[in-house]
Amino acid sequence: MKQATATNTRLAKTVAELKPSGIRRFFDLAASMEGVISLGVGEPDFVTPWRFREASISSLERGHTAYTSNAGLLELRREINNYLETRYQVSYHPETEILITVGASEAIDIALRAVLNPGDEVLIVEPCYVSYEPIVRLAGGVPVFLTTKAENSFKLTPEELSAKITSRTKAVIFCYPNNPTGSTMSKEEWLKITPILEKHDLLVISDEIYAELTYDSSHYSFAALPGMKDRTILISGFSKAFAMTGWRLGYVCASPDLLAGMLKIHQYTMLCAPTMAQMAALEAMKNGQGEVDRMVESYRQRRNYIVHAFKQVGLACHEPEGAFYAFPSVKSTGLTAADFAEQLLMEEKVAVVPGDVFGESGYGHIRCSYATSLEQLERAMERIGRFVSRLS
Ligand code: PMP
Repeated sequence: MKQATATNTRLAKTVAELKPSGIRRFFDLAASMEGVISLGVGEPDFVTPWRFREASISSLERGHTAYTSNAGLLELRREINNYLETRYQVSYHPETEILITVGASEAIDIALRAVLNPGDEVLIVEPCYVSYEPIVRLAGGVPVFLTTKAENSFKLTPEELSAKITSRTKAVIFCYPNNPTGSTMSKEEWLKITPILEKHDLLVISDEIYAELTYDSSHYSFAALPGMKDRTILISGFSKAFAMTGWRLGYVCASPDLLAGMLKIHQYTMLCAPTMAQMAALEAMKNGQGEVDRMVESYRQRRNYIVHAFKQVGLACHEPEGAFYAFPSVKSTGLTAADFAEQLLMEEKVAVVPGDVFGESGYGHIRCSYATSLEQLERAMERIGRFVSRLS
């Protein structure tokens, strides 16, 4: 299809100029081939636990098919508050500080649209999830990339943050545990960041969708840091740890003034998140911990396997502390990440995503999702091993 440009289209200039997602191109290529093992997809291989599905089915049987309130079921918002309080020691008023969204994706969109004026700069900590940059642009903001380094395990450092702040900076957006690197930030590491945010009075959009998926130490929520709650928009959802990608359910928590702004956009564009999905999420929040723990344990085993396997085939791989991605370096092979991914797909039928799709510091790395069965992972690593040994 002919690519629309700003001059040959009826589309808005901002939309015409958006680049298509680099992940999609690989998926499309892999989907057109037979026998491909995909480590490309960022979604759990588990089916949504039965008890969550059953809660939703039962709500349908009882005829709960109407809209909920714009902000979502109050009971679900209450449960989310209990959950955040118990797990992460951060508390939000269910009536004024929590909004149920159509996935974390909608939460990111309305957070940025609610706070940005045209020309405001948003610091995007990369490598990162592919939607931040386009959504900042669609909201009229200016993305400014803050590139973390492999030698710092892709953690955000105070020096890197200070270097990128200008008088136009309005907000910073980051995601820890991180997609695509699996890196996490500890409380001590965050405490070096917070004085800079205070000094420049910046808003923080903290995407914590992988919060439950940590393996070495538990997740520390950014909003729980001293003095940070009021400047933080906390984003999370049910897609990852609860294996509910297709239900399209997330949430956003923020102080009442910010939340009221987001609610205004949400009520005009979405009305409310799907009712039957909210019913499943309610069960997940009330009684889902055992199911989540079981899945986390399974990801831990696969992480341990894949990190070890990458080292064995000679690719340096920092140990991801969270999410379900490994991010090994392919620099030692002499190939760029894009060439590595393309040749691996063509020659050995394993789909991975070149790291530069997620930002400049992803150059020379590939993202491999280990949210697939151990047997598949073993087969994939055998093929990757064969491919790498042919290169050397
Ligand atoms: N943030 C990150 C970092 C993600 O990886 C994803 C999904 N890949 C999302 C947000 C979007 O999640 P949801 O399915 O809740 O819209």
